[in-house]
Amino acid sequence: MARRASGGLGGVVPPGVSRASGGSAGARREELTRLVMAAQPTPFWLDRPDAPAPREPLRGDAACDLAVIGGGFSGLWTALLAKEANPGRSVVLIEGNRIGWAASGRNGGFCEASLTHGADNGRERFPAEFGVLERLGLENLDAIEAAIGRYGIDCDFERAGAITVATEDYQVASLREAATADGAMFLDADAVRAQVNSPTYLAGLWDKEGSAGVQPARLAWGLADACERIGVRIAERTPATGLASDADGVTVRTRHGVLRARRVALGTNAFPPLVRRLRSYIVPVYDYVLVTEPLSPAQLAAVGWQNRQGLSDSGNQFHYYRLTSDNRILWGGYDAIYHFGGDVRRAYDQRPATFVKLAGQFYDTFPQLEGIGFSHRWGGAIDTCSRFCAFFGSAHRGRVAYALGYTGLGVAATRFGARVMLDLLSGQPTELTQLQMVRSRPLPFPPEPLAYLGVQATRWSLARADRRCGRRNLWLRALDAAGMGYDS
Ligand SMILES: Cc1cc2nc3c(=O)[nH]c(=O)nc-3n(C[C@H](O)[C@H](O)[C@H](O)COP(=O)(O)OP(=O)(O)OC[C@H]3O[C@@H](n4cnc5c(N)ncnc54)[C@H](O)[C@@H]3O)c2cc1C
Repeated sequence: MARRASGGLGGVVPPGVSRASGGSAGARREELTRLVMAAQPTPFWLDRPDAPAPREPLRGDAACDLAVIGGGFSGLWTALLAKEANPGRSVVLIEGNRIGWAASGRNGGFCEASLTHGADNGRERFPAEFGVLERLGLENLDAIEAAIGRYGIDCDFERAGAITVATEDYQVASLREAATADGAMFLDADAVRAQVNSPTYLAGLWDKEGSAGVQPARLAWGLADACERIGVRIAERTPATGLASDADGVTVRTRHGVLRARRVALGTNAFPPLVRRLRSYIVPVYDYVLVTEPLSPAQLAAVGWQNRQGLSDSGNQFHYYRLTSDNRILWGGYDAIYHFGGDVRRAYDQRPATFVKLAGQFYDTFPQLEGIGFSHRWGGAIDTCSRFCAFFGSAHRGRVAYALGYTGLGVAATRFGARVMLDLLSGQPTELTQLQMVRSRPLPFPPEPLAYLGVQATRWSLARADRRCGRRNLWLRALDAAGMGYDS
């Protein structure tokens, strides 16, 4: 998850060594390593005995009106909305691995109204239509809640709101300003600590409407189930390997055959896009998460947290955290790692150095939980683009549509992206296809080694800005000027 107010590619700081701890830094680090390495190296949300059995792959040749590629939220919402709008249309969704195994089943579960990766980013990039985007984002979140109710999806959806906290003096004023601009509630130190009790909190900004918590894997599984109930065919373990089009439609080559479709929607997120020219527009940036053991009633009381809001802090490098339904704390973010070459690889899902850092920062935030264990640790790829919110378009003369680049805030926004893809495939102008956000594109990333060097320079600069009361160096100011800056 990336923060609403701004994004962050993360940065390099010394490993998290608890301020609260006594003893040497080395001993502390050993203790943290022991605690995180005892956790299961797998996403908490997916680690469930009631996970659905695999669906059959697609073998041989098949045909449909709409082929959807990717079984995360993008693909699932696209298939569901397409079939709801036109029950006579045949829809086939193919997923290369398992439904919800990728970002959709391993995120922080913050289901947010913002379509633009936070108000600051949206207001800066789309000033003329920001109000419309805010309305569409809230409608989108309401529609997600309604669909969960309509299909009876059991995914712990809780519209509990979210608090952004200030942990440094210089962050307090910007939260106060944001409260005026965005209609959220400013909380001073006492008020925010009365909600959730951390000695690090100096202020908070409570958005009560625009954020919900969700068990994301169960949402993905429930959406897949809902799709099938209304007639969508879903095939798992069916990677698409290429696209070709002619006057009659599109040929999707898969590992075991061919799928012919009149139209194709791509919901492939951080994975290599099947439309080659899109490859320079997104880079996979890895984000990491820990989940604790369930808190005892005494531990929960020591933290407060009566209203179950999601939380995030205000630095360029920030944490996001929330309660699960069984009162564990999910704690993620801060580091964000780009690997040279921009590959998506299983091996990158685990990063002990980041887990140790995150654990130290967790105990700094909640010293009253010192010693609580972690049950799960994992990471996942975020489809980062240079404008930090999704971009959209079509290829193959309007027969293939895509929505990519959610940059860590796509749990809810993918439903909006699904609507945009379907509108683009309809060939008709709609309210959504006329939006500047839909018609415009981010800047592409440069090829390697420039992409890697640029990301490292940005991470270093953001970490430095966090240590210098938010002051941005020349590099960050140049990115701001080019429209690629954070916290713009
Ligand atoms: C650690 C982490 C924390 C996050 N936290 C949050 C959060 O709290 N809130 C929030 O809003 N966002 C968060 N995000 C981002 C959010 O999870 C994503 O934006 C969202 O899930 C994207 O959905 P998707 O369907 O586009 O992508 P995915 O869920 O990645 O699905 C894409 C699917 O396409 C499949 N695929 C790819 N290529 C092919 C192919 N050629 N053939 C067949 N199938 C293919 C993949 O196997 C995959 O299943 C987080 C992401 C991560 C990694």
